[in-house]
Amino acid sequence: MDISKSDSTTGKGDARDFLETGIQYLKGVGPKRAELLGKELDIFTFRDLLYFFPYKYIDRSRFYTIAEIDTSLAFIQLKGRITGLRTEGAKYKQRLIARFTDDTGAMELVWFQGILWAAKNIETGKEYIVFGRPSIFNGRISIAHPEIDTVEKSAFTFSGKLQPQYSSTEKLKNSFITSKTIQKLIAGLFQQMTQMDETLPGYLISKLKFPALYDALFAMHFPADQGQLKKATYRLKFEELFYIQLNILRQKNRNQQDIKGHVFAKVGSYVNDFYHKKLTFELTEAQKRVIREIRKDLGSGKQMNRLLQGDVGSGKTLVAVMAMLIALDNGYQACLMAPTEILANQHFATISGFLEGLSVNVRLLTGSTRKTERNKLFAELSNGDLKILIGTHALLEDPVQFKNLGLVIIDEQHRFGVAQRARLRQKNENPPHVLVMTATPIPRTLAMTLYGDLDVSVIDEMPPGRKPIKTVHYTDSKRLVMFGFLREQIKQRRQVYVVYPLISESEKLDYKALDDGYEAMTRAFPPPQYLVVCVHGRLKAEEKDMAMQYFQSGKAHIMVATTVIEVGVDIPNASVMVIESAERFGLSQLHQLRGRVGRGADQSYCILMTSHKQTTEARKRIETMVNTTDGFVIAEVDLKLRGPGDIEGTQQSGIPFDLKIASLSEDGQIIQFARDTAQEILNRDNDLSSPHNEILLRQLKKLSRSQVDWSSIS
Ligand code: ADP
Ligand code: MG
Repeated sequence: MDISKSDSTTGKGDARDFLETGIQYLKGVGPKRAELLGKELDIFTFRDLLYFFPYKYIDRSRFYTIAEIDTSLAFIQLKGRITGLRTEGAKYKQRLIARFTDDTGAMELVWFQGILWAAKNIETGKEYIVFGRPSIFNGRISIAHPEIDTVEKSAFTFSGKLQPQYSSTEKLKNSFITSKTIQKLIAGLFQQMTQMDETLPGYLISKLKFPALYDALFAMHFPADQGQLKKATYRLKFEELFYIQLNILRQKNRNQQDIKGHVFAKVGSYVNDFYHKKLTFELTEAQKRVIREIRKDLGSGKQMNRLLQGDVGSGKTLVAVMAMLIALDNGYQACLMAPTEILANQHFATISGFLEGLSVNVRLLTGSTRKTERNKLFAELSNGDLKILIGTHALLEDPVQFKNLGLVIIDEQHRFGVAQRARLRQKNENPPHVLVMTATPIPRTLAMTLYGDLDVSVIDEMPPGRKPIKTVHYTDSKRLVMFGFLREQIKQRRQVYVVYPLISESEKLDYKALDDGYEAMTRAFPPPQYLVVCVHGRLKAEEKDMAMQYFQSGKAHIMVATTVIEVGVDIPNASVMVIESAERFGLSQLHQLRGRVGRGADQSYCILMTSHKQTTEARKRIETMVNTTDGFVIAEVDLKLRGPGDIEGTQQSGIPFDLKIASLSEDGQIIQFARDTAQEILNRDNDLSSPHNEILLRQLKKLSRSQVDWSSIS
């Protein structure tokens, strides 16, 4: 939440609100600095400055002695005397060296710039407090460009022991706006301000023993000690997350009150025939539980908005089919939207297969559907003959008009924006039920925020007989070992995927890697004994289909591909996934790719190929993949490594992720607590009409003025 994003830019703000004052009017700023602060740090108003928090605090409560210093210490503080000053070096490479001593020894302080200033201001014989990062210079320990103050002066400037550090930029530093400058500006602001309007209701503040807003903000910038800082941080994090949750939950409750859902009261012959005659295996307990949850929603008279999470291969498609058949049994149509054409094709094939012999009219609509076919399809759709429509974004287009759409299923939701979800819902007068399926496990904290308006079902169990996929990491030098392993697997009639990264379709180098890889594979696995096919985004639809056909039917042994196979492809006989340049893939992508194998009863393998050199982060990703197959663990690591803003889908989600202080990856417990607190409040006062909740409404209004209007979306 960004309550600080001022309204002054939109002109809608309360003119009397002191905090909305433009930053140029703060003493020591002026128009030039104001422009810089805006451009570089997004600080436009007093409030923005107040909510510009330090990125770290340096503990200045501790003094080191010179004897204790080693270069592993980050920042240290020393107290001692300057006993000598000299300059060294030729004219333009001069440096100033001060000899600094305390009871335990002596060391050097060095200046390469600002020599004249330092030479003029530093007095030998005087006692100083020195602060900086020790390093080795000329074989001796020294501190370059230390912060230095006389003992008297230091007592005056640092009242607190934790010194805040504000992030600054090159441009700002060049204009002499440093961390210290920012601190001074904030100090000036607090001097003009004796109180602030509270932003949380009094009963919450006293119940949760929070510091007042003014005190919390003051403590963020001028903490007296760690304890005070901790309390302030907690309150501000809580508040930020609390308003996000309050907003989502209020909207969710309102939807449930206002929107009438189609009532799917009965289970009829579609479901029964499918379940008893077509289904060749027993549903897992998790599938049964999830289907029960869905059925309950569908029969409740309220509109379903449910997220179905389940790892790759956990059997979500089957759940989707059951849900669609319930819709059909109640006289409604259903549709399923997938993010790619390949995946839509795959779903169409799977679902048509499941429903064969049940005389259900199922059709596919994608960008490649021909015009005559399209027109026929549109006609059947609007007269109700067509019961199940499967497709891509093409389903969102205007000519797609249903007779009575009762259920929308969206696969791989994280690739669709919230707005697209909304458009599908509008395909019917009364909004249809919505089931969102995702195979990318979303960490709970993120789900609560990103999909906070949805109820969540989780398939946390794999169909029986699956063996966990074995994952190894090979560097390029082990390529021959890898080939040998593939030969062995192919001998056992298994099939192999080899995937190359493709950052963008236009990336020439990536295609070259793919081409070279394909060639190398064909050389290592020559015809006629072996058949290697290649699939990528530049192929014509027919060529792609043919390659897929060869692989699906088992004629081809190896499929070399780009990430087009990432989602959905289901070939149980494929047992090896080789991922080339694995260091270039993100964790969730690696997990998705690995999920393409291990779909049958046989032991499956994933081989991650990388070069020798890797970044620390890449190494962590590879390690995680080798160590676990649990999608939720992987998602948590991913969130920690990348931060929530980079997780697919968050950008277009419409939910503000430029949190000022809270972190979706680190503050999971606070998110849960904030959500529970918000829900409790709504349980007691669902429209927030009671007087002591007035402040909540006011804050929500502020929030929605400064953000995208979520209410129109969910
Ligand atoms: P997801 O969509 O979750 O990745 P799918 O629905 O594609 O998973 O299922 C993966 C494979 O497991 C499919 O081949 C499917 O037919 C099969 N499957 C699903 N449920 C079961 C079950 N209960 N028992 C055995 N096999 C199942
Ligand atoms: Mg699937």
